[in-house]
Amino acid sequence: MITLALSKGRIFEETLPLLKAAGIEVLDNPETSRKLILATNSPEVQVVLVRASDVPTYVQYGGADLGVAGRDVLIEHGLDGMYQPLDLNIARCRMSVAVRDDFDYAAAIKQGSRIRVATKYTQIARQHFSDKGVHVDLIKLYGSMELAPLTGLADAIVDLVSTGNTLKANHLVEVEKVMEISSRLVVNQAALKLKREPLRRMIDAFASATPK
Ligand code: AMP
Repeated sequence: MITLALSKGRIFEETLPLLKAAGIEVLDNPETSRKLILATNSPEVQVVLVRASDVPTYVQYGGADLGVAGRDVLIEHGLDGMYQPLDLNIARCRMSVAVRDDFDYAAAIKQGSRIRVATKYTQIARQHFSDKGVHVDLIKLYGSMELAPLTGLADAIVDLVSTGNTLKANHLVEVEKVMEISSRLVVNQAALKLKREPLRRMIDAFASATPK
């Protein structure tokens, strides 16, 4: 049995065409079913639905043989025990620094002020500001980061931006791009040895079907 870990939503939806290219069709719809283990048309392949940030944990410890996770999630988690053979080029967005539209970020940086940054992505944010030589106090949040500059909790946030609509609706502006984000395939290292043939076939099929 091969177990693939996916998160609901964009990653699940955008992985379906790749699975199809590997001849695999998921038989349940996660939006209507409450099942966490989804069968496929192949008796040897099942899909498990987990939180996006739990995908690397499942793959690292072998709860799943492979999984699909964002570059952001993988950097924050680390790649211990996993191979990352493919950038699937799906669920694309960017990680950016954003501030209130009335906050002069450039001036604050120029003055060398210490700025308070709220984010869920503390590893990525720490590296980004350290590379730029900007002094920051990081505040870890688990959601709704957009609220932090509006309430005075922080001067800036580091968050994922796709259309920019969420920032705009909250009077925030993007002031720096930190990195491009897309989802990657990760494979448990031990599984790749033990189930080499079926996993290789799946990885190759994903590779040929990956959007350019
Ligand atoms: P948008 O309004 O389209 O810029 O989307 C921004 C919101 O969606 C933020 O709350 C992000 O955390 C979230 N978001 C955007 N793209 C992604 C993605 N690829 N993966 C996870 N969350 C995302």
